[in-house]
Amino acid sequence: MDKQSIIHSLKLLADEGEIEILSEDEKSITVWDNSECGKELTFYFREHNTYRNLAKRVFISPTIPKVYKPFFTKHCVMKTLLEKIDPNCFMTMTALFIVWDDNKDNETDKFRSKLEDLTDDEYAHEIGDGLLGITWWERNVCIISASQIIHTVLEMYEEDDYQFKEEVEIGFWTTVIHELRHLLLDTNIILPENEYPQELASEDNVEEYCRKHFENNF
Ligand SMILES: [Zn+2]
Repeated sequence: MDKQSIIHSLKLLADEGEIEILSEDEKSITVWDNSECGKELTFYFREHNTYRNLAKRVFISPTIPKVYKPFFTKHCVMKTLLEKIDPNCFMTMTALFIVWDDNKDNETDKFRSKLEDLTDDEYAHEIGDGLLGITWWERNVCIISASQIIHTVLEMYEEDDYQFKEEVEIGFWTTVIHELRHLLLDTNIILPENEYPQELASEDNVEEYCRKHFENNF
């Protein structure tokens, strides 16, 4: 969807009272979504989803141990996001957070304080703890747990196994594809029904999409 069709669709929803338009600038438009308990929702125009602009919404924890950092470098993540992910996923993505929750005292990543700043919600410190990834619907954020992915792979392979690297890549990208798909289908209230029918949002269909998308693009 281009900028004009986003604005057009949102104005129709505003006329119907489904949303209120809060602010608008060059790159995005922010609305109050009245569905469920109500929330703020920003639509980023595809024309402005350049590497530089999108990179401002992708956060990678500096606490990831040095040995695993090469799997999650900002440049590689950005390049793959732009080359291989459905760009419509970024329309309502406030942020993508890659965290490392594996702290000695069983605390979540301190870097999550950045997510709290961004969302003004202290639940940022808990959400998705123990999961590979989660979509935070209320805040339009996807959180991916690098620690959980690494530990899952370590249950099957030794670090110096030749398959280790490959399995981490698979685990990471299938989680990203899966969560961004949820974000797209669950938060974007103006998706064209013919292209993205409602039933695609079910867990089975998201997983099915993820599997196929990974096979065909990675
Ligand atoms: Zn899911």
